[in-house]
Amino acid sequence: MSTFWQHQTERAGLGEIAQKVQNGERLSPADGLALYANPNLNVVGALANIVRERKNGDTAYWVRNQHVNYTNVCNKGCLFCSFYAKPKDDPRAYVMTPQQAAQKVRNYGDVPISEVHVVGGVNPKLPYEYYLELLREIKAARPQAHIKAFTMVEIDQIVRIAKKAGKNTPREVFEDLKSAGLDALPGGGAEVMSDRVHEDLFATKPDSARWLELAREAHLSGLKSNATLLYGHVEQTAEKIEHFVKLRELQDETGGFLSFIPLSWHPEKTALEDLKAPTGVEDLREIAVARLMLDNFPHIKSFWIMNSAPVTQSALWFGADDVDGTIMEYEIIRDPSKDRKQVLTSRQLVEMIIEAGRQPVERDPLYNVLSRGLEGVSDLETLLSNQNADLIQPSANLGITQREGITTASQSLKEKGRALIALEAR
Ligand code: SF4
Repeated sequence: MSTFWQHQTERAGLGEIAQKVQNGERLSPADGLALYANPNLNVVGALANIVRERKNGDTAYWVRNQHVNYTNVCNKGCLFCSFYAKPKDDPRAYVMTPQQAAQKVRNYGDVPISEVHVVGGVNPKLPYEYYLELLREIKAARPQAHIKAFTMVEIDQIVRIAKKAGKNTPREVFEDLKSAGLDALPGGGAEVMSDRVHEDLFATKPDSARWLELAREAHLSGLKSNATLLYGHVEQTAEKIEHFVKLRELQDETGGFLSFIPLSWHPEKTALEDLKAPTGVEDLREIAVARLMLDNFPHIKSFWIMNSAPVTQSALWFGADDVDGTIMEYEIIRDPSKDRKQVLTSRQLVEMIIEAGRQPVERDPLYNVLSRGLEGVSDLETLLSNQNADLIQPSANLGITQREGITTASQSLKEKGRALIALEAR
């Protein structure tokens, strides 16, 4: 650290923590509390940047990915969630057949997507075979892509219903899911590892002990995962520290976590919408403290959809080394100003990283490098997303989803080309 920053850390009262960071020593829960409480966010961020650059240099990772939210039906009723529809008599409810989910993947057949991210609600009507078929169909539609699917909450449900199919342990279920095409797990569902928050906001979901047990089993089955923290609602600082400590203990044991993703909560259209959303300053602090506390996690991600693109650019200097990806279609939260699906093109993502002063590197879900800089980027994703995002209409009859007028990427490009030729001919 330069003399300037050494002076700044001492002035901010963070000299001892700075020394530990310099020496690569693990920070204590008390250190974590001090980092949350310190008003000098720039100094906290500069300390996080030391760890970020030690682990990942100047690199900022991005991924060409597609999200598929196969159902919004969920019987968990988490108070912070705006995505779910009740299993009975909810006009918003939808569920895709495995074939329809695969068709969504085929819609982007001309984009070199390396990751299909599949999550949904806990839909009590779906049998074990549905999940296996979903993976098989998506894999068949996009054999080269990794499938990253199911939060630990969905996994808990799948393990439960697998008993009817004679599968009695999580390990057996993970083996089946892997055979069907599962490559990794996104890691959501723990929210905040606090019994108090669990009881208050999501009591019917698995608690932190179960989440950690399933994550351990996944890692021991050879599946890598991420981990998340949903912050900005009713959690307390000490509860977030507890969350970090539990995660890093499991990481010491299994080494199975790739990335940690602090998720900025969005109150719009939830049961808690009177609460204020986290600010950009809070978002940056969460990224920075996570980077400093989770010393054994290789990557910290600023998920641009939750944090916004501008905060994510700054986060690349506050501990984050990953911005996530192109997404294509996202149902979990929507842009409140437009109430429509969100997408950034590969060109926009890369330009956003370059403008922030970092080196863009395209990765796959396991952080294998696929391209660097502006190599291969385009604006194709927005074109396709605009065309495909609204083609799927939820049906009142669960299990039947209408899909009409599907246009492939090649067709859409041809149409665009024809339109340009027609314009020029005028
Ligand atoms: S957060 Fe997940 S488990 Fe909870 S209600 Fe929403 S979809 Fe269901």
